Amino acid sequence: MAADQDQASSALPHEVDALIIGAGISGMYMLHRLRALGLTAKICEAGADVGGTWYWNRYPGARVDIESQEYSYSFSEELERDWKWSERYAAQPEILRYLNHVADRFDLRRDIAFNTRINCAHFDEAASRWTIATDTGEVVSARYCIAATGCLSVPNEPNFPGQARFQGPTYHTGRWPHEGVDFTGKRVAVIGTGSSAIQSIPQIARQASQVYVFQRTPNYSVPAHNGPIDPAVEQTWLANREENRQLQRMSTAGFLFSNPRAQLATQTGDNERRQVFEERWAQGGFSVQAAFADLSIDPAANAMAAAFAADKIREIVKDPDVAEKLVPKDYPFGTKRLCVDTGYYEVFNKPHVHLIDLRQTPLQTITETGLETTQGAFEVDAIVFAIGFDAMTGALSKIDIRGRAGLSLSEAWAEGPKSYLGLMVSGFPNLFTITGPGSPSVLSNMIVSIEQHVDWLSDLLTYMTAYQLAVIEPTAESQSAWVDHVNEIASQTLYPTANSWYLGANIPGKPRVFMPYIGGVGAYRQLCTAVATNGYMGFKLRAA
Ligand code: NAP
Repeated sequence: MAADQDQASSALPHEVDALIIGAGISGMYMLHRLRALGLTAKICEAGADVGGTWYWNRYPGARVDIESQEYSYSFSEELERDWKWSERYAAQPEILRYLNHVADRFDLRRDIAFNTRINCAHFDEAASRWTIATDTGEVVSARYCIAATGCLSVPNEPNFPGQARFQGPTYHTGRWPHEGVDFTGKRVAVIGTGSSAIQSIPQIARQASQVYVFQRTPNYSVPAHNGPIDPAVEQTWLANREENRQLQRMSTAGFLFSNPRAQLATQTGDNERRQVFEERWAQGGFSVQAAFADLSIDPAANAMAAAFAADKIREIVKDPDVAEKLVPKDYPFGTKRLCVDTGYYEVFNKPHVHLIDLRQTPLQTITETGLETTQGAFEVDAIVFAIGFDAMTGALSKIDIRGRAGLSLSEAWAEGPKSYLGLMVSGFPNLFTITGPGSPSVLSNMIVSIEQHVDWLSDLLTYMTAYQLAVIEPTAESQSAWVDHVNEIASQTLYPTANSWYLGANIPGKPRVFMPYIGGVGAYRQLCTAVATNGYMGFKLRAA
């Protein structure tokens, strides 16, 4: 089935073993595994088709920034051998085709209700089941409620003074029109300079007559060096598939180059350090971040990486004033999510691309015809909001989720998300959060982390069936200890010093808590495995 094609919703039964929220990468794999366990399961998906983040984020230039063969499911060797990626970093349309292929290949659609949003999920303590209601008026009773809602699925809604007055079209990168947008000859404003903006601006600039980039905080970006996939890379990957997949699973961030080298930047001579950074920059992608072991923990080492990146920006961008505005100054390198680009800094050498620094000249209002800063008025035909997401907790807080004694998840998380292993929340039995806050999730190759959670959860449900258990919930103590651990290791790094979406800093009023688990994918996997092999230590399990 074509990815863009809307399709009829599969009717929902009144009862299922598991109701999965979301048909992105995690929901699809979860459904596949539950079926294999002999459980009845349905997915409710707000969109008209599968794909999650890759269904919604269709902005020009959208592509993965982990190498294609690494950003793919590992659960089926046949799938992996049959599918051929065309580029080193696959673009959104190709990834969406891949996910549609997976949906067809494993016959997933018959258990997915599309165009169906979950409004509320309430735990019925007497029945030990979730009562889940959709915006289509259906109500489903499920033993397990599995939130496969994604970490970056709820757009940060623009709320700029005067924005309703604007007469031209506006777009959010996270909700891009399916039919695409033709900017040919148009004057376009882009607000934001995160990954979505950094990927889309060079593409928009190919069509637009003028591009005005409104930057609040500059980001660090490293070149992708994208191109057709090297057949040798693909062959080597497949020849060593098992070993590579195992390396991913036990790595720092779920891909092969994510393990930092043992060497410290601060104990490396200037020439050698520069050479290592140059090699990583030439290699492209996130490998720069793993160039030395101390970059994310030692301010002195981090400053060396920051200085290297700043020199690169100054080398690429010809206008020294523009270059200086593009150099991040007030947070450590890599502590806001590193971007991976194709021609981002270079685009500012084009005469029709203009950078407006909102820290120097704040935005005052949007008008009928454009934007006004303290510098002056910018007349534009279209505005692109590349302002990010209500990350990690946004999708869950939009659903009225109530656990035991009517406790709402929003109340339970009023001071920031609390979970055990990022998988479950005390007071919310049988509710599972795939790649939830408190797990490596956004600090990792998402597919690797998704598969780990889904596999762990599948093993748990197998165990529960075998022992005739029907209800699981973390103890308050285990949750509290996990939250402390997540915070403690985050505080050993430089990450919490930046105003990033990892901390909810991009959403006014959101509690400032470092949400993902930064202890590493491999270490986290070992912890989860140990919990399981010790009889699901830290959880309470009981019969219905
Ligand atoms: P983002 O990183 O949160 O960037 C949003 C940008 O909008 C920031 O520059 C932010 O400035 C700016 N902004 C927000 N509110 C603003 C306001 N009121 N006024 C002016 N500027 C404002 O969002 P994103 O670019 O969509 O990326 C989010 C995440 O999605 C990424 O970090 C990444 O994890 C994921 N992503 C991945 C890929 C990929 O893998 N290829 C591509 C795109 C996105 P401040 O920094 O000052 O807040």
